[in-house]
Amino acid sequence: MVLPVTNQWQCLPTQVPLLDSNSKYVTYYEGTLPLILAAPHGGRLFPTSIPDRTAGNGTVTVTDAYTKDVVLAIAKKIRERTGESPHVVLLQLARTKVDVNREKSEASDSDAGQMVWQEYHNTIQYALEKVNQNHNAGLFIDIHGHGHPENWIELGYLLDNQTLQLSDEELDHSKAKSEASIQNLSKRYPDIMFSSFLRGNSSLGTRLASTHHLRTTPSKQEPNPSQIKKYFSGGYCTQAYGSRDSGDFDAIQIELPKPLRFSASGRDQVTTALCESLAWMLQTFYHVDMRAKM
Ligand SMILES: [Zn+2]
Repeated sequence: MVLPVTNQWQCLPTQVPLLDSNSKYVTYYEGTLPLILAAPHGGRLFPTSIPDRTAGNGTVTVTDAYTKDVVLAIAKKIRERTGESPHVVLLQLARTKVDVNREKSEASDSDAGQMVWQEYHNTIQYALEKVNQNHNAGLFIDIHGHGHPENWIELGYLLDNQTLQLSDEELDHSKAKSEASIQNLSKRYPDIMFSSFLRGNSSLGTRLASTHHLRTTPSKQEPNPSQIKKYFSGGYCTQAYGSRDSGDFDAIQIELPKPLRFSASGRDQVTTALCESLAWMLQTFYHVDMRAKM
């Protein structure tokens, strides 16, 4: 069922009133669901007032192309289908200037860049507090793009490739559960095995692969990336806003391959799949009654 559109989305983007700077580098769309969607590497503003990062050969500056579009499309589809909105946080400043998916000390060479880092994370903090006012658990989704040749979706839970080589039984009896960015989800449902949340019937990966036919790892179909493959297990934001260390928020890093970002049909396919799959997660595990609205 599609509910009538209110002005909420028409007024966007909304700047967060409590922030000091209100700069043009961070965009926030306030939501109603216990879901935050973020795109930290999709920015395309290159102001000369903020120097480029120069911190050595390991500094990655590539833009995760189309990830802002993907986040906005997921949010709009959820809104159209349910009448409810996720919170959205987008960085407009290019990754050559600041990398907000790193510790602040490594994020930028300049005070100006670090101020944007602070504003980005203040905005996420604001969204977390908004969610916590009405919900006792939430989900943070960090959207990225990769160029690995497998062209699958990589889901990051802070568990490295080696850990994902373990069998389900080994995983369920290892310390992986307490090292994962969905530790709180697993604790809230002690009757469901941890491996099921990671790559079984209770996982986002299996939902994307089974229901939407999108190759995803980890999932029941692709339980782990082969050991020789490059795989992103989750960065700073997944650590900071997931439940590995503490808290009621779980986090998943979603790395999208180029075919699902660079064409309009690919983006439509993946955003439709993520809209449905994230709504399923919220309804099944985060106490949100989406069924009445879908
Ligand atoms: Zn990225």
